[in-house]
Amino acid sequence: MIDLHTHTTASDGTVPPPDLIREALELRLEALAITDHDNMTGYDEAAPLAGDLELIAGIELSTKFGGKSVHLLGYFFAGPPTLEFRLWLRKQQENRKDRNRRLIARLNSLGIDVTLAEVESRGGIQTGRPHFARVLVEKGYVQTSQQAFDDYLDESAKGYVDREEVQLEEGIELIANAGGMPVIAHPVRIKRDPGELTTAIVRMKEMGLQGIEVYHSDHSPADVVLFQRLAARLELHVTGGSDYHGTVKARVKLGTGYDGNLHIPRSVLDELRAAVSR
Ligand code: AMP
Ligand code: MN
Ligand code: MN
Ligand code: MN
Repeated sequence: MIDLHTHTTASDGTVPPPDLIREALELRLEALAITDHDNMTGYDEAAPLAGDLELIAGIELSTKFGGKSVHLLGYFFAGPPTLEFRLWLRKQQENRKDRNRRLIARLNSLGIDVTLAEVESRGGIQTGRPHFARVLVEKGYVQTSQQAFDDYLDESAKGYVDREEVQLEEGIELIANAGGMPVIAHPVRIKRDPGELTTAIVRMKEMGLQGIEVYHSDHSPADVVLFQRLAARLELHVTGGSDYHGTVKARVKLGTGYDGNLHIPRSVLDELRAAVSR
């Protein structure tokens, strides 16, 4: 069993990197990729602790495609990314801080009493919208994190403020130039219509996309079959992961997803490695 999509406290997961390694070893995972949003400090902290576990450096970038937010995974099978990429990631942190300040102002203007210090104390290295959601729950403005997103924080909600995100094409180039494999995350969230999705993925492949996340906790068995076929037809590599976030998405388990709906064969990683070494 392997899991190539996980988050730690370095982004919006609740499990610190050393604990994630421990959980993976206890589960006897053969390989784990840490794919925190927009930073690699979780991977850096976990790397010396991996022991027998095959740990892969990964990233999940938020990008824009057709005006909408699309997540792009990057996998660094041959070793961590270039310094240039690291510096670019650092710049994204500023960008996020600026967004967070504007998000506070927006929420305040909607009559919500919340401060930057409050949300930052829930976040670690990188404070994101899930940390805002937690504060809104704790202060009783909403009942659940999901309600915080639905009412205030989602792209379509009244509290949303935009963040400067790279275009998908630029994200693909950044990852490839850093020595990584760019892979589209949870394609089920892009388009529901198979025809439209195919058109979108064809366009992404033209941009340099190399892989598609076929296995994901949110994918139904029918989705998996559809994405398998799409990967074969478009000659894209196949990846998969749970998108584990710890207790913020408590039903998603490391390695096995929702109620064991995820089975990522070891051969997925073997094929990725073989492709990279060719
Ligand atoms: P940020 O990167 O700070 O903009 O926060 C994005 C994160 O918020 C995503 O990775 C998800 O974990 C979460 N998120 C975004 N939209 C929603 C939504 N509509 N419902 C629940 N969680 C969401
Ligand atoms: Mn997340
Ligand atoms: Mn994602
Ligand atoms: Mn993710």
